[in-house]
Amino acid sequence: MMKTPKQKPPLSRGEKIQLGIERLNHDGEGVARVNGFTVFVPGAVPGDSVTANVISVQRTYARCLLDSVDKPSPSRIKPPCEHFDSCGGCQLQHLDYQAQLSLKRDMVEQALRRLGGLDVVVRPVIGMTDPWRYRNKAQVPVGMDGPTVKAGFFARRSHRIVNVDCCLIQHPTNDRVVDVVRSVLKETGIPVYNEQEHTGLIRHVVARTSFSSGETLVVLVTNGHQIPGLDKLINALRSRLDNVAGIVQNINTRKGNVILGPEDVTLWGRPFLTENLHGLSFHISPRSFFQVNTVQTEALYKKVKEYAALTGNETVFDLYCGIGTIALYLSRHAGRVVGVESVAAAVDDARKNAKLNKIENAEFHIGLAEDVAPQLQRKWLSASVAVVDPPRKGCEQRLLDAIIKMEPSRLIYVSCNPATLARDLKYLTGHSFTVREVQPVDMFPHTTHVETVVLITRVKE
Ligand code: SAH
Repeated sequence: MMKTPKQKPPLSRGEKIQLGIERLNHDGEGVARVNGFTVFVPGAVPGDSVTANVISVQRTYARCLLDSVDKPSPSRIKPPCEHFDSCGGCQLQHLDYQAQLSLKRDMVEQALRRLGGLDVVVRPVIGMTDPWRYRNKAQVPVGMDGPTVKAGFFARRSHRIVNVDCCLIQHPTNDRVVDVVRSVLKETGIPVYNEQEHTGLIRHVVARTSFSSGETLVVLVTNGHQIPGLDKLINALRSRLDNVAGIVQNINTRKGNVILGPEDVTLWGRPFLTENLHGLSFHISPRSFFQVNTVQTEALYKKVKEYAALTGNETVFDLYCGIGTIALYLSRHAGRVVGVESVAAAVDDARKNAKLNKIENAEFHIGLAEDVAPQLQRKWLSASVAVVDPPRKGCEQRLLDAIIKMEPSRLIYVSCNPATLARDLKYLTGHSFTVREVQPVDMFPHTTHVETVVLITRVKE
């Protein structure tokens, strides 16, 4: 391999420079080039001409602070949310929605080309008609700022809590829950968690609202078991909030960033939420995964169903099945569906959801997909159609090997991370599969996250 000669960076710290922004990186920061050298400018968007101050210079890139936008990009808009500059929740509110969608399509195309070596056409992103107030779940950290209780979001790249009383991507009820909990904590003096010292009690408020019924499940994450003034807390939440399905305490006494702990205690009502998708009802427990954008979930699943092209006889595997949503949705069009999921509470939900919807051709296995799928494959249980929907780190190679051996005619890969998607597709295309269609769906408007559904078929040998 040719070595590139070491070059001196063409910039120095403290310098003020003019830049034309070419693209955004994965964190939504503007990217420019100076004599081939990469420069990051948070707050700038593609098409902007800006003046920026160089704040650090590394071997291959420099970071700048935006000083002024001298000629704004035609896609630049005023961020509708007043917290946009400080809150770490959204990264793209300063770009108009159509530009966000084309940016996401480019992100997928580039990842597939650069990391997967795949030259495939990526379809235009399926966007939302109304891309606001779409989240069904809020997970809000709670903390003290001197004598004041704060609940909101972590500031960008930090654990400083920004107090937020209106989040434009949340269901309004979730905003209301956070507001009420904040007020009740102020009034009752129930101790609030201090992350540095690992002291205090209330760590997070998690609110989940059903788009179909409007009911809400309130989860209070606590660093300990006893909540002083518990009755007052429950009464206040019940009297000030409409349509509460249940109030649950989740106990998490561990240090670190994981929000939910291993134990749930029902404080009032029932410990699950009900949501409808495509005419099916689903129970969702506090620790089970459920897609955060209910409206787009229907669009995503519709695409999965279209790609599955079921005739009624197939055995369909739904790997990483959560509460069984995809498996149960496809069960009406297949011979048999088999779900695999590692979180026990979610598998319980999936089994209950099959009963709730009177579905008898569904079975669910608990365990890691990479352990269970090879076991099923060795027992000669084979999938004619397989769906995988892994977390951000993608699929283990062991799982991909088991799928390859099963020889499904169609494999549908649902991904929330283009980089690991590209890696896994590269492996599959090296093993008798070919990528047919790539369809991103915008599950997370105003953020840099992209969801993609891919149809992969077997190459006839
Ligand atoms: N398809 C579902 C869930 C997708 S999220 C839906 O649309 O709602 C990914 C799921 O995979 C989560 O429920 C998570 O608990 C589960 N999971 C994570 N790692 C896993 C693994 N190695 N094996 C099986 N399930 C896993």
